Amino acid sequence: MSYKKIIPDILSVFLDAFFPVKCFVCGSWIDVKDGFSSFCQKTLLWETGEMGNSFFICKSCLNSFTPVKPPFCLKCGLMFQIDEAENHICGGCLKKTGKFRIARSFGVYDQALMEAIHSFKYRGKIQLARPLGMILFLTFMQFFKIERIDIVVPVPLHKKRLRQRGFNQALLLIRHWPENARQLKIDAFLSKIDKDLLVRNRWTESQIGLGRELRAANIKGAFTLKKRSSIKGKNILLVDDVYTTGATVRECSRVLLNGGAASVDVLTLAQTVQL
Ligand SMILES: [Zn+2]
Ligand SMILES: [Zn+2]
Repeated sequence: MSYKKIIPDILSVFLDAFFPVKCFVCGSWIDVKDGFSSFCQKTLLWETGEMGNSFFICKSCLNSFTPVKPPFCLKCGLMFQIDEAENHICGGCLKKTGKFRIARSFGVYDQALMEAIHSFKYRGKIQLARPLGMILFLTFMQFFKIERIDIVVPVPLHKKRLRQRGFNQALLLIRHWPENARQLKIDAFLSKIDKDLLVRNRWTESQIGLGRELRAANIKGAFTLKKRSSIKGKNILLVDDVYTTGATVRECSRVLLNGGAASVDVLTLAQTVQL
């Protein structure tokens, strides 16, 4: 075992033992013995003891996340509210053509997951990027074949928004993926992340409160492709924090496909409930 591996292990034991942490979502003290690792194993059936426990989200908050489960739309991944149905294509996707191949999310954007994303994104708790990013990586493993994806692209922010917020939440969510892959002993995920491929060069007002049609109109023409030659024939995974109407990722997909990408898949941490 190399020293590079040992030092973080020792550190995490030390931190767990001497500095109790508060949950970044609800503020309660975390019992580190009962945190993130057991959640990952239980929820996503991932057997590993190597994830560490200093992950800033308590057991009760983790347990109130609602992971997406069947039945869901085979294209956009939105979970249906009726238990008995089989997976099928939703009404919205039947009406729209093309763009991304499939979209998938980890969970429903409500309760603790919504609170966690708000803390992370709007209240600057960027330490949450690690556990949320790991959840997103496990979701990626669950729904996609790693070998199928050539490039992972975060949905970019406009530079004015980046200055306001100080970080791009989509990029922070995938930043530790190479490390996650190593922890899980996955070799296929080398250096697939390209954060500079897409640029958001038109300022758009917040999409919050806008309906489906207005969101699509608001976002049109907001993105441009920086390195056209590098995506020819490539399969791209587009990553964002929340999928609402899909307007943003659909517009990004359009730009990537026009630029020569072979396919675009979408992965988000959370999806709003299907209305
Ligand atoms: Zn909590
Ligand atoms: Zn759908």
